[in-house]
Amino acid sequence: MKGNSAIGCSSDYDPQPLLIESNLGTYAICGIGMINNAEELIKQFLSFSGGHFGAMTGGEVNGTELVAALINQKSSFSDGIRFAQTSIKGSSSIMILKDDGTIIAARDRFGRLPVAVGKSDDGYCVAFESFSYKKLGFDDYRELGPGEIVEITADGVNVLAEAGKEMRICSFLWSYYGYPTTTYEGVNVEVMRTRNGSIMAQNDRMNGGLPDIDYVCGVPDSGTPHAIGYANESHIPFARPYIKYTPTWSRSFMPVHQSDRNRIAKMKQIPVHELIKGKKLMFVDDSIVRGTQLKETVDFLNQNGAEAVHMRSACPPIMYGCKYLNFSRATSDRELIARRTILELEGEEGEKYIDEYADPSTERGKKLRQVICEKFHFDSLEFQSLEGVVKAIGIEPCKLCTYCWTGKE
Ligand code: SF4
Repeated sequence: MKGNSAIGCSSDYDPQPLLIESNLGTYAICGIGMINNAEELIKQFLSFSGGHFGAMTGGEVNGTELVAALINQKSSFSDGIRFAQTSIKGSSSIMILKDDGTIIAARDRFGRLPVAVGKSDDGYCVAFESFSYKKLGFDDYRELGPGEIVEITADGVNVLAEAGKEMRICSFLWSYYGYPTTTYEGVNVEVMRTRNGSIMAQNDRMNGGLPDIDYVCGVPDSGTPHAIGYANESHIPFARPYIKYTPTWSRSFMPVHQSDRNRIAKMKQIPVHELIKGKKLMFVDDSIVRGTQLKETVDFLNQNGAEAVHMRSACPPIMYGCKYLNFSRATSDRELIARRTILELEGEEGEKYIDEYADPSTERGKKLRQVICEKFHFDSLEFQSLEGVVKAIGIEPCKLCTYCWTGKE
């Protein structure tokens, strides 16, 4: 292949980038996000265009092809992308490679995910995580604002459409999704996680005292910096009672049979018996979503002789499935351990009291924690507060998406 420009995307769902022949010329397009009103947009498109979409395996339309169909309805890329951004319910960050080598990058309307531009003597690089281009020798140039559209050529970065004023960047980027060396909106992921752990220790101290434990430990990998922050603040030693061994099994590989998954999970957790047997441990995890993996971890620690296993979640109970990003770890509200527990306790009636369940000072909040503790054999369980996470991130709360904890858009 020849040329000096390229785009690409690691996608679990749609094949992409796609090559499109259109009224705007020939271009390649890829993107990330989630289109919740895809069906409605497809119907609208087919009703007036007489066109068609290629059906993927399973009969669905490729989301990237749908984005291209929206863009092509206007007479310029910037108008077309704006149209796509405002038509899509969910989110969509887009990269386009024109046939003259120009790259167009657009961040989704409310900036749920970041889009960062790097620069080196050789040119520019655009990515969702800045660490990816830093490894290649690019330095930070600038982050795009929410909804901003830019055109990148060998001569520089030209703004095609200004950023909007409203932003709702995903808070989970800092708690869990983001790579530690990445910085979003001027806040580094690892630094936020350490600060978050420290706030959790302050909260425990205020709400009845620090638990009686020998070590603070992180559920690897993303729980670890939260745990380091907790240990630094509480002056309780940090330790790694089990070490993750990953060379043989990549993270994305998921065998079909549960028995194989269990065997692999065990192979990935190598215990340090001296740090487990007879010890009172506190584990900090980035979040508690379904809890399946966590149960295996606690059983593993108990089988290896731990005297006590306390658990802390570095974010509030997750009450709502994410409707903005397609790399979330639960697809429906009822798969979430907090929501499943509420359902068991009160049936659908309990869904009226989700705010109370999230709050540890209410009777419902205490009950939720107690039931999850019993299910998972934790000696105690607490969640970081919403205020705690927001403080640890440190940007204005109105700029953050916290929907999966609060249900508020
Ligand atoms: S709902 Fe949660 S995971 Fe989804 S964008 Fe908002 S904060 Fe991120």
